[in-house]
Amino acid sequence: MQDLPAVEGGKPVRDSGNFLVFGAPDFSEAEMEAVVDCMRRRWVGTGPKVHEFEQAFAAYKGIDNAIAVNSCTAALHLSMKAIDIGKGDEVITTPMTFCATVNAIIHTGATPVLADCDRDSMNITAESIAQKITPRTKAILVVHFAGRSCDMDPILKLARQHGLAVVEDCAHAVETRYHERNAGTLGDIGCFSFYVTKNITTGEGGMVVTRDRSLADKIKILALHGMSNDAWSRFSDAGYRHYQVVHAGFKYNMMDIQAVMGIEQLSRVESSWRNREAVWTRYMQAFKDLPCRLPKPPEAGTRHAYHLFTPLLDIEQLSVSRDQVLHALTKENIGVGVHYIPIHMHPFYQENYGWKRGDFPNAEFIGERTVSLPLSGHLTDQDVDDVCTAFTKVLRYYGMKA
Ligand SMILES: *Cc1c(COP(=O)(O)O)cnc(C)c1O
Repeated sequence: MQDLPAVEGGKPVRDSGNFLVFGAPDFSEAEMEAVVDCMRRRWVGTGPKVHEFEQAFAAYKGIDNAIAVNSCTAALHLSMKAIDIGKGDEVITTPMTFCATVNAIIHTGATPVLADCDRDSMNITAESIAQKITPRTKAILVVHFAGRSCDMDPILKLARQHGLAVVEDCAHAVETRYHERNAGTLGDIGCFSFYVTKNITTGEGGMVVTRDRSLADKIKILALHGMSNDAWSRFSDAGYRHYQVVHAGFKYNMMDIQAVMGIEQLSRVESSWRNREAVWTRYMQAFKDLPCRLPKPPEAGTRHAYHLFTPLLDIEQLSVSRDQVLHALTKENIGVGVHYIPIHMHPFYQENYGWKRGDFPNAEFIGERTVSLPLSGHLTDQDVDDVCTAFTKVLRYYGMKA
């Protein structure tokens, strides 16, 4: 009974000792040596390596200002503070995102407003945003979902017409491009994540990029307790200096021990991207006849970052639920994820913002059907074969038409 899923008593595609972890980082020896070297030098805190990583990231993005922080959540929060979002303001974002996007708005005292996403791109659009603009709207916080760029030209035009700031949540979008421009440099501020599962990782970490020097200065001060800008040079050997606190800031700085990982990861960002593109292409080929909706090809003139591969199950064609498919894949010893249960389906937001099932039908459509399969630059051919075998086996077994 080779084709019986493990959850039904069949043999799992992988042994339990060989569980394929979802989103495991693509580390090379170079990262490991860099971390050890950093420890040997006895300078693990914020210092010259953070500065070097900021310079390298800014160069990669083709922008003047990059500020390394300890998460994308911190980057988003600082961005909101830097553009003076606060009580009484509304910020429009998407329900198809991680909770950190929305929490960053809430922590300023402002009100998050959701605009439904598109079913195919899974991104918010100028049309859906336009319906949500009120006299209180101050900013748009877009998310380039899975690494696919939002259609930014109409969104930027809308923002200009209404005098709104645009912040980009680029947690999935390190390598994303839109009409010859880099994600994160399209709006006023771009925020990146170097969390363990992301395309580049420093364990925990994030980066803020902006063209605007004064925003960059403000973010830098807020990221380190609100201490005046030259306090960062406190971490150098330029001699003792007093610091001055000029804002009630936060403790959001990145450490050198993280930055050294980031420097190595960034140097391999393109080869890791090509590896993921190859995995993506194999999945598209392997799953084309299964009862699921595959991601549509990247839009012309854009580059997809291939952060998440998120087919939507044809749940009407399956004899089991999406959650049972997740369980069945886990029993094959393949790690999977869900990106995302939409924001408005979580109890906190329902209780505090009055959102309910039915409010954002496209996000719900995705949230009920989506499965994220492993997509990391370090996957071997065998790993990818195993994912293909397991997904095919499970969907064929439960597919009622098959
Ligand atoms: C991961 C993620 C974040 C948060 O990133 P951290 O670095 O973990 O704080 C924010 N937004 C989106 C869309 C994410 O996927």
